[in-house]
Amino acid sequence: MSIPGDKPFQPTKSLGPVEPDFRILIVDDDPALRRTFPHVLAHPGRSFDETGSIAEAIVRLEQQHYDLILLDYRLPDASGLALLDWLVERRRDEAVIIISGEDAIDAAIGALRRGADDYVRKPYHVAQLQRAVESTLHKGALEKANRAMSQRLRASEQLHRYLVESSPDLIFTLDAEGRFSYINPRIKPLLGFERNALMRRPFTTLVMPEDIDRICNLLNQPSRMPGESFNVELRLRRSRGSSIDDCVTVSLTGLPMLAQPGDGRSAGLYGVARDISERKRAEEIISFQAYHDQLTHLPNRVLFKDRLELAIAQAQRRTGALAVMFIDIDRFKLVNDTYGHAEGDALLRAIAARLSTTLRRGDTLARLGGDEFTILLPDINVPEDAETIATKILDALAAPITLSQGEYRATMSIGIALFPRDGTTAEDLTRHADIAMYQVKRSGKNAFRFFDPTLNTHHHERIALENDLRNALLRGEFELHYQPQVSIARRQIVGMEALLRWRHPVLGSLSPNTFIQVAEELGMIGEISRWVMEEACTQLAQWRSAGHLELRMSVNLSPLDFDKRDIVSSITSCLTRHALPPGQIELEITESLMMNDTADVATKVRELRSAGLSVAIDDFGTGYSALAYLQKFPVSTLKIDRSFVRDLDGPSTNPIISAITGIARGFALDIVAEGVEQPEQAEALQLLGCDVMQGYWFARPAPAHEALEWLAQPARLFAGH
Ligand code: C2E
Ligand code: MG
Ligand code: MG
Repeated sequence: MSIPGDKPFQPTKSLGPVEPDFRILIVDDDPALRRTFPHVLAHPGRSFDETGSIAEAIVRLEQQHYDLILLDYRLPDASGLALLDWLVERRRDEAVIIISGEDAIDAAIGALRRGADDYVRKPYHVAQLQRAVESTLHKGALEKANRAMSQRLRASEQLHRYLVESSPDLIFTLDAEGRFSYINPRIKPLLGFERNALMRRPFTTLVMPEDIDRICNLLNQPSRMPGESFNVELRLRRSRGSSIDDCVTVSLTGLPMLAQPGDGRSAGLYGVARDISERKRAEEIISFQAYHDQLTHLPNRVLFKDRLELAIAQAQRRTGALAVMFIDIDRFKLVNDTYGHAEGDALLRAIAARLSTTLRRGDTLARLGGDEFTILLPDINVPEDAETIATKILDALAAPITLSQGEYRATMSIGIALFPRDGTTAEDLTRHADIAMYQVKRSGKNAFRFFDPTLNTHHHERIALENDLRNALLRGEFELHYQPQVSIARRQIVGMEALLRWRHPVLGSLSPNTFIQVAEELGMIGEISRWVMEEACTQLAQWRSAGHLELRMSVNLSPLDFDKRDIVSSITSCLTRHALPPGQIELEITESLMMNDTADVATKVRELRSAGLSVAIDDFGTGYSALAYLQKFPVSTLKIDRSFVRDLDGPSTNPIISAITGIARGFALDIVAEGVEQPEQAEALQLLGCDVMQGYWFARPAPAHEALEWLAQPARLFAGH
């Protein structure tokens, strides 16, 4: 390989083929001779010009180039030798044949010395002249071709030099010892080195220390075939700085150069290094996106699984343990539905940041999607280690999180599965942690729990139930049963409580206790509540048109219904549609709703009350701080929870029920006792000042047509009294 110099390349205009035509100039003072030459020498592709003096010949030659000059030795104005000198001085390459009457050999030698190509004596023999002309032209043509060839070689070398010197790639050659013997100017902008400073220095000067072994192995690989190239990705360092952040990643193609053609020994290396830092960065961004969650920038499901599998393999080798946590934020959907997705996203980010602070180096926190997170603790000794971290996580969320729309107290349910006790594959461990998490949700949330294999079957049932529930509304599998609320004193039915039933195609009639929570978690409760309200109103309107104008209908609401902004208008418009007086509808809400005042429940309850509806507190007495919230929530009725009624086995006084009736009187509220199963309970309640009751003793919840029969003959309900 030739090493180009520094001159910039200027492409030549034409590298075309040698012109085949020959121009011949005849310079002779004898006009007869001038005329005969073209005849004697005629040949296709030859053209002739003629002139009788040296001066005129020079004029012609200044105008154009000739291949051959037939030059008389003596001319009137000067000797032919003068023209020869003229040509030599100007480095002209015209071939010259001297034609002269001078027969002295020294005249011929003189002419040939001064650059003539041949000499023909006058009077000439035609054949002799022709031979001389042919051979001179032939020689001239060869020289011309050679000149063109070397011109092309020069141009081609210039082109290659240009390509190498201006290449966007770093191009270099190394000698047999691996030292630079050539580097193109790209080195300066790429790495900041002066090319001369690197000459004769080892190539490894440029290589990042981390990659030196690798490249040395490659360069010294004896197994490579002569002339076989290799390609490797390599990090080169910049002239200042040797940190990994300050390097350029290149794709290097190396081609060993051979000492001699056919000789296997290497004489060095020809290398082309392309800067692929940009591509690398793009690849890193793409792979980051593929393995991370966009919102929190935490590892995603794919990366979590990778890390978990790796951790399992390592734990297996050292017979160690590891833990997987499955975390779900409690009631996260509320935030999203109430305050919008932007606020929900901000909350997720804040929670992710809090969770991160509880972890140790080497632990992985991932977001699986939605409000689900997982944590891999690859290095635990005893289950208590996982317990400590779970406690830390719950504590980390104890302080409220302040966002643009307010303060949030987030809690979470955490399920934990241990390797190898609860599973030996990534799938099993994650699934079992998920099941344990569900168990936490069921038993009140905001806690952690270890996987318990006996829970597994429940989990399968739950998944099947979820699938069926999604279709239940569409398939019309819901139905309302009605349970009367009776006044003992008046021996009348004063109200009916609408109780939801699900006619499951396989499991039969299901109580709401088995599916309401699932519907809440699946976000389906709103739709179900609307259906219940519509159905209950339709039914009440029917009974009213059958003459039961005083009858009140009680409808149960879920706390989640109060997260809906339009709860009030959606209920009042339902009443209007069915032309029902609002006082005939009682909404049953739970105490837990009132303890959670984030969703502005008090305002909504007040709006419902001022629209004329009754509001009852269901299962009253099972929550806390009852008095405090009764002052805040303008409810109309308290329903004494069944658990208090159950304890009533005789006409003795009961402190709790006395207290409840006392409260009710104080706040001027109605009272309904739930779960009355025995006549003794009814009597005791009556003595305690509680008149309206509901329970199996009077009637079990039943379909509408049965309820209508009770309405027609209420005395049947008091048969035992
Ligand atoms: P709840 O509102 O306290 O309803 C009373 C529950 O006690 C009903 O159970 C009823 O069948 C049962 N019960 C009535 N009398 C007696 C008795 O003498 N002894 C006993 N042991 N139980 C009695 P059910 O129908 O299974 O409903 C359970 C709970 O599901 C309800 O408790 C209510 O909180 C909820 N629920 C019912 N229907 C709906 C609904 O349409 N929407 C919502 N969100 N929740 C509903
Ligand atoms: Mg109820
Ligand atoms: Mg109840």
